[in-house]
Amino acid sequence: MRCFPTQSRLQLLFLIALPLAVLLGAGCKRDAAGDSAGTPAAKPVPNVRTIDEHSYAEPGVVTTTDLALDLKLDFDSKTIAGTATYTLDWKDKSATQLVLDTRDLTIEKVEGETAAGQWTPLQYALAESDKVLGSGLIIQTPARNAHVRIAYKTSPAASGLQWLEPSMTEGKQQPFMFSQSQQIHARSWVPLQDTPAVRFTYTAHVTAPANAMVLMSADNDPAAARDGDYTFKMPQKIPSYLLAIAAGDLVFEPISKRSGVWAEPAMAKKAAAEFADTEKMIETAEKLYGSYRWGRYDILVLPPSFPYGGMENPRLTFATPTVIVGDQSLVSLVAHELAHSWSGNLVTFSSAKDAWLNEGVTSYVENRLVEALYGKERADMESVIARNELKEEFKTVDPKLQALAVKPGVLKDPDENSSATVYAKGAWFLQFLEQRFGRENFDAFLRGYFDHFAFQSIDTAQFAAYAKANLLDTYPGKVTQAEFDAWLYQPGIPADAPQTLSPRFGVVDSARLAWRGSAQLPPPVITSPWTTQEWLHFLDGMPETLRIDQLAQLDAAYKFTGTPNGEIAQRWYPLAVRSGYMQANSGQAREAIAEFLQRVGRRKLIMPTYEALVQTEPGLAFAKEVFAKAKPGYHPITTGTVQKTIDEAKPKPAPAAAAQPALQPVPDDAADIQASPQQASPQQAPPAG
Ligand SMILES: [Zn+2]
Repeated sequence: MRCFPTQSRLQLLFLIALPLAVLLGAGCKRDAAGDSAGTPAAKPVPNVRTIDEHSYAEPGVVTTTDLALDLKLDFDSKTIAGTATYTLDWKDKSATQLVLDTRDLTIEKVEGETAAGQWTPLQYALAESDKVLGSGLIIQTPARNAHVRIAYKTSPAASGLQWLEPSMTEGKQQPFMFSQSQQIHARSWVPLQDTPAVRFTYTAHVTAPANAMVLMSADNDPAAARDGDYTFKMPQKIPSYLLAIAAGDLVFEPISKRSGVWAEPAMAKKAAAEFADTEKMIETAEKLYGSYRWGRYDILVLPPSFPYGGMENPRLTFATPTVIVGDQSLVSLVAHELAHSWSGNLVTFSSAKDAWLNEGVTSYVENRLVEALYGKERADMESVIARNELKEEFKTVDPKLQALAVKPGVLKDPDENSSATVYAKGAWFLQFLEQRFGRENFDAFLRGYFDHFAFQSIDTAQFAAYAKANLLDTYPGKVTQAEFDAWLYQPGIPADAPQTLSPRFGVVDSARLAWRGSAQLPPPVITSPWTTQEWLHFLDGMPETLRIDQLAQLDAAYKFTGTPNGEIAQRWYPLAVRSGYMQANSGQAREAIAEFLQRVGRRKLIMPTYEALVQTEPGLAFAKEVFAKAKPGYHPITTGTVQKTIDEAKPKPAPAAAAQPALQPVPDDAADIQASPQQASPQQAPPAG
């Protein structure tokens, strides 16, 4: 047992709220089973905290070693109901209770298996719900049962599940559902110890309507019969955030012997073509970091409402369809999710404070895979894009969140971690180490690290101790402890960080600069070979706002408005909004923005546009209007983020366009604006600004 002298606000809240909740629970017969069993009332949890401030579980007392699920999916009521059975390893031999994490779950019955193999009711109580953490479920287990079973039901609003009407799918025939458990949403569909510090194996029996194919982060059989009755087994120990389920009209398309794509029928072949290099990626990663330890590697393509780019659910990456653009230019997403098979799924952070151990190491590995498959130029371009995003984010992110290792109590909601820090700064740190120690030495170190901590959950201190022994002390004089620690514990980027120069981005920078000075667009011979990365860099380097005629000129030449490429949309629409271009082209931009925000639910792609919109009153009104329409198709995680942005908006009354320095008069008649792009071909650029 370990006592933590300093407790975060949330922990305190929990400890204060708990006794009251227990009393209320007992009073209203929530723990009816316990009453009949005649066991004593639930007591407040002991003053024992774990290393994970975002979980009520007490892994120092007891850990789940196996989870057996028996679930029924009901698309009509948008619920999952069934039982979860836990195999428990009691570390504290005097413990009397098991504490699990839940959010919005209805607990129907809790039973424990006696030594004689009988299931008998256990007394339990749900603590008062915390907005971020949900409720602790306190189960009285004076006998420290080896097995405990809970009958429960999810809420239709479960934060970790999304239920889609047929109209929101590609095929429009069948409903669809999927989970997103990371960071702490598994607790909304299974009561469990929802902390990455605990690892367990799992099995599941799932029933669903006969026409729904059900998949999990487990041993999915490509040849499984679609009959509404499925069983799964995950023989490797995983943390709770990797528990995943999806169901819908899904078919399989192979890529290689051990890899393939699951998608709706209309998307399957297209997706398999886009991800054709997956087997090569697996082989490349194996050469660098040792064998792939998870059996199959399949990719499930989700509807566009998926809130993330991808989720590294073991054996079955969940991926957004927004990276399927036809030219494999965005497949670094697969490299990223695959890389998690080593960094994250195999060696796991023990709490969200150390998220960089998952995402930073993965982003580094991702870049190495991109380099091996698509060349150093592309890998460098992707590094520069990520680092520019990081520098941009550092302008506004709390310095406490700019350290790779976040201090206890800083991260209130683990969904709100600074993504650029954990991803891009984390990768940059490893690139710094690689450069100082040499690639060969660093590759051997990283491979050894994955082996040493395989199937374990660790924190930054454990990484640092391992690196000191196997890197800093092994190759003395290359990196000082102070330099090493600065990356981990200080905000910002150390001054001696290695810089990456991309010659191809040099060309893009010159083209952009020349255009801004002369209004001459670069000749097509320059731009026609540009890849997505170069277009992104072209837009990333634009000033905060442009003039309407400038935007119209770019739009006429490059068709940014209405682009099918979400990464371009993510950059173009906020620029258009800030510049007051919304009403241009007879409102085409406005329409295209509304369409994009309603079609796509991936947070990274849509949040910059929402954030730009809420800066002005008309923009905020438009954002609210679009959000109201888009909301039914959004995932609860996206809904929460957009709602927060709208709620916290402090809009200025004047529209952005009025505040612009306009060298040319800004026409307020849409017809005039529509005319200008037609005149503004690359050859007939408007007069210099
Ligand atoms: Zn990741």
